[in-house]
Amino acid sequence: MHKWTQAVSQWFKQGLPGYCAFCLTARAFHAGWCDECFAQLPWNHRRCEQCAEPLVGQAGQRCGHCLVEPPSFTATTAALCYQGPVTSLVHDFKFHGSPRAGMLLVELMLSRRPAQVGDALLAVPMYPARAKARGFNQAQWLAERLGERIHKPLLQARCVKHLPSQRALNRRERQQNLLGAFTVKSPVPAHVTIIDDVVTTGATGHALASVLLVNGAQRVDIWAAARTPLQKS
Ligand SMILES: [Zn+2]
Ligand SMILES: [Zn+2]
Repeated sequence: MHKWTQAVSQWFKQGLPGYCAFCLTARAFHAGWCDECFAQLPWNHRRCEQCAEPLVGQAGQRCGHCLVEPPSFTATTAALCYQGPVTSLVHDFKFHGSPRAGMLLVELMLSRRPAQVGDALLAVPMYPARAKARGFNQAQWLAERLGERIHKPLLQARCVKHLPSQRALNRRERQQNLLGAFTVKSPVPAHVTIIDDVVTTGATGHALASVLLVNGAQRVDIWAAARTPLQKS
């Protein structure tokens, strides 16, 4: 797997110069996209600084959820909204295992990286049977590439509870579902950045960050490619 992704990564860097991944015109110079497509991506400009939920209406730094019941992580970087071409990209990566889509997500994440990255990166772990069924853990894949690029070590955590799809659950149900789901390998450094592909409610990040804080972390942040707008409360 590692060799294969390295080979594909090389192919991505060397084999597609000049072609935009989104419009396929020969105008991209370095990152895999052209300036126009990059500008038109669904950027999550006005977002809660803690959970990255897109903010609407009144100006503010944090969303209502984070003000009323602050999650255990400090800040979330999720520069894109999970919609349009970003949804297609994540689907190609996650469900069809497209390494080209994965590399694009890595590049997009690096283009809007957090102001402060932790001492180590930690991918959101997947229950082993689920990772086996999918063929890989997409968050781990992203964390490995990001770690190589920004020279950060990777922490290891495990998901010890089978989590049925969280999609149909509301925020409270997700939190219940995630109790006791994660264990983390010590020692845990002071500042950890959790890596995920898409943040939905932040419930997973909250559960994982709580475990990290109990095990010695002083600050935990989240760095994801995209954020879905909240639909349930
Ligand atoms: Zn383009
Ligand atoms: Zn928030």
